[in-house]
Amino acid sequence: MSVKILDKNTIIKQKSDGFTPLIIGDPATIFSARAERLRALAKDSFMADYLLLAGQIVQQQALLAEDFAQPVANFASENALTWPLSLDQAWFPILEAMLAQLTTSLRLVASDDIVKVIDSLQDLDSETLHHYFTALQHNQPERVPAELAILLWACINTFTSLLVKTTALEWQPEPNVKQHFCPLCGGAPVASLIKGSGHRYLHCSQCETEWHRLRAECTQCADGENIHLQSETLEDAVRAETCGHCNSYLKILFLEKQPNLDPIADDLATLVLDQKLNQNELYRNGFNPFFLPLIQ
Ligand SMILES: [Zn+2]
Ligand SMILES: [Zn+2]
Repeated sequence: MSVKILDKNTIIKQKSDGFTPLIIGDPATIFSARAERLRALAKDSFMADYLLLAGQIVQQQALLAEDFAQPVANFASENALTWPLSLDQAWFPILEAMLAQLTTSLRLVASDDIVKVIDSLQDLDSETLHHYFTALQHNQPERVPAELAILLWACINTFTSLLVKTTALEWQPEPNVKQHFCPLCGGAPVASLIKGSGHRYLHCSQCETEWHRLRAECTQCADGENIHLQSETLEDAVRAETCGHCNSYLKILFLEKQPNLDPIADDLATLVLDQKLNQNELYRNGFNPFFLPLIQ
């Protein structure tokens, strides 16, 4: 991956017109809004129970993001970080502390099914747990049991989003490089977002960063000839951008139409659109952890 990551002090600022190629969010704010959006979407959904479960997990991530902000800031100042981030041994103590807090809190509010998942997580030996964390951070979720993955992912997601927030890097796209994966953590996008400015950003599933990509080209193979938008109606704020060249798609969220959309929550709540696209032999090229138990 060809990536240019620049220190804040050395980058030539591109913000004179208000445009920036990289947007780093605040994890606690993002997780709180996402939990609220999941609860709202559950009200009219055939998959209400699952959206509420996802909301419970994300609500705990909001608390983790507050409680671990300082430990992660300390971690960032004490460790030499390389970009894009790649999980190493030094991450495990914080990830394990996050997992302990997440499972203790979730056990008090979640259903019996999730309590069983928590029990089986606590039975894992540390070698297996580390193997699972590493596989998820390296975009290999198929190596992890799906029901365990959603809780382990919650820790990785919270940790990497705090890490990129505290380091506050800026990023300059290389000319002619089409960035499908996150320039900061190497994670896959969840979805595209069309901002009020009309610019398209990809939203990282792992660290919640958003990076700019031109519109009307496939985010995976960069083809611009066979791109279509598909949805139930032309008015839908969540559509799918399909590519007839590589037969894949990514959801595209029009924030200009509906500003409170959340990439993870609204991607999950539009599962019916995925089912229709899958019948036409189009596959997802983005990643949403909450889809794992639905597709494995
Ligand atoms: Zn990322
Ligand atoms: Zn394509």
